[in-house]
Amino acid sequence: MTLPIRADLRGREPYGAPQLAAAVRLNTNENPYPPSARLIAAISAAVAEAAATLNRYPDRDVAELRKDLADYLGHGLTSRHVWAANGSNEVIQQLLQAFGGPGRVALGFEPSYSMHPIIARTTGTTWVGEGRGEDFALSADRAVAAVRGLRPDLVFLTSPNNPTGAALPVKVIEAVCDVAPGMVVVDEAYAEFARDDTVGALTLLPGHQRLVVTRTMSKAFAMAGVRLGYLAADPAVIDALLLVRLPYHLSAVTQAVARAALVNAGELLEAVAALRMERDATVAWLRGRGLAAADSDANFVLFGEFADRRAVWQGLLDHGVLVREVGPAGWLRVSIGTPAEMARFRRALSDVMARGGGGV
Ligand SMILES: *Cc1c(COP(=O)(O)O)cnc(C)c1O
Repeated sequence: MTLPIRADLRGREPYGAPQLAAAVRLNTNENPYPPSARLIAAISAAVAEAAATLNRYPDRDVAELRKDLADYLGHGLTSRHVWAANGSNEVIQQLLQAFGGPGRVALGFEPSYSMHPIIARTTGTTWVGEGRGEDFALSADRAVAAVRGLRPDLVFLTSPNNPTGAALPVKVIEAVCDVAPGMVVVDEAYAEFARDDTVGALTLLPGHQRLVVTRTMSKAFAMAGVRLGYLAADPAVIDALLLVRLPYHLSAVTQAVARAALVNAGELLEAVAALRMERDATVAWLRGRGLAAADSDANFVLFGEFADRRAVWQGLLDHGVLVREVGPAGWLRVSIGTPAEMARFRRALSDVMARGGGGV
């Protein structure tokens, strides 16, 4: 049977990180630490309170949660500068609905987050993927030349970049803001994991009305299951998003859980320092084994290069370790797990390499 699906969607592949039941799952950059018993109790109490009024629609404008998120971000931001939705993927979708669409163009620098082009296309926005330079770096010259040449309606910059790992120098973001004719979206899903001297895009918000910085509670915050993403931008940007968001898009339960989690931000972010150390140790270990490993400001490491990365991916899975086959040919990405999970990853990879798997 042939369904009358839109011509531009016909034959496309859905987003597809495999959700396999491996013993050690290091493939979607989740935080490996589940909530504490204390936090589970706090979240349960918040849900019980929200449940008492579930006959009513939730706060359509998400006022209290936006205030809490603004306080968390700092930088003098207020609730008027912050917007929230079901994961930063929905935030990105709303941005493309408001500022992209048929006849409009979005630009990104690849390899980068695979959902940017997918969401662009589903909103009818033309996607243009430009390359990066040596070691997956993006120079101001290259970025500015691409923006000047294409004059896109939106530019996507991912910092720290997924799947390659490094954050962008803030000078590159600023240079793009200075020449971009449209919106500049900086996806900072991994901001909390960045190395200490990293300056983020929030510092550029004053004076850049078309800059948008997106964040998420899915990674450092260890709340991927909640589906809560947010952005910081000029209040005029949020006024534009109100035109495209569905009414009552963020459930009362989601708002309550996210607020309860934010009260406990200190506890949730405690693991970030340990994950950063584990990440740096993983990079060093991989390089010590004679492999290439990209510098990382995130909670994952891109490593290679393998003549047959599929064989290495499968070999690791045979040892119960699921990593991600993503990024440039020959490379794999491993999310940072607990010390025990990383030890298992190292043993599995050593074994796969000793057997000559993947042409290493
Ligand atoms: C994981 C990730 C997201 C998060 O998406 P959510 O919808 O908030 O879970 C956004 N951007 C990038 C680059 C990511 O890697």
